[in-house]
Parts: sequence; C-alpha cells; structure tokens
Amino acid sequence: MSETIFSKIIRKEIPADIVYEDDLALAFKDINPQAPVHILVIPKKTIVQLATAESDDHAVLGHLLLTAKRVAEEAGLSNGYRVVINNGADGGQTVDHLHLHILGGRSLQWPPG
Ligand code: AMP
Repeated sequence: MSETIFSKIIRKEIPADIVYEDDLALAFKDINPQAPVHILVIPKKTIVQLATAESDDHAVLGHLLLTAKRVAEEAGLSNGYRVVINNGADGGQTVDHLHLHILGGRSLQWPPG
C-alpha cells in the first residue's frame, strides 16, 4: 500500500491539529485552509482514492460521512458547510489517501474552479 503524509499523521509520526479520532477515522485541520473552517476526515485504513474503494469498504465510507457531520457540528457550522472529495488528477487530488474536506465558516461559491 502507498505511504503518504497522512499515513504518518495516523501513526503520529508527524504532528497534526487533530479534532476527532476513533478506531476507523481521523479528523484534523488542513494545513492550508481554504475557508475559516477546513478540516480533513480520513480513514485509518489506507484507501488511495474513492475510485479504488471496494464494496468491503462500505462501512468505513459511511462512517467517514457521519464523522464529517459530527466534526462539522462540533466546529459550529450550523449555517452550512461543504464536503468535498477530490479524486485523481483531474479532481485535484494531491495526497493519495482518501480524504473528505469539510469547508465552512463563510459563504462558498458554486461551481468550484
Ligand atoms: P487534495 O488536494 O484533495 O488531495 O487535498 C490534500 C489536502 O491536504 C490539501 O488541502 C493540503 O493542504 C492538505 N495537507 C497536506 N499536508 C498536510 C498536513 N501535513 N497536515 C494537514 N493538511 C495537509
């Protein structure tokens, strides 16, 4: 399986501003925030991207969405927020470990660039 900076964050080998953790998922603040609140939710299991997820991953994928909801609530995003998964090169994915972006704290534009 591929080694990424997120693998090192999961193993606590490099620091991150962790806001939530359980057996399946980790959530931490994005190092280059694009909104007042920008949190990443990742599976502890290495899944390279959404496109490589398998049917066996259905529980962890559901858990990631519920974790995103929980983290957004805890961050006070009662006025709304956006959840984004960038998949592959054209999707703008730069870290090859599946992650959900939670963006909020300002009014977001649509469509994205
Ligand atoms: P993506 O472009 O969808 O693959 O998103 C990767 C995200 O990871 C970017 O928003 C980066 O700012 C973020 N990122 C990269 N390295 C770190 C890190 N060490 N800690 C927190 N966020 C990071």
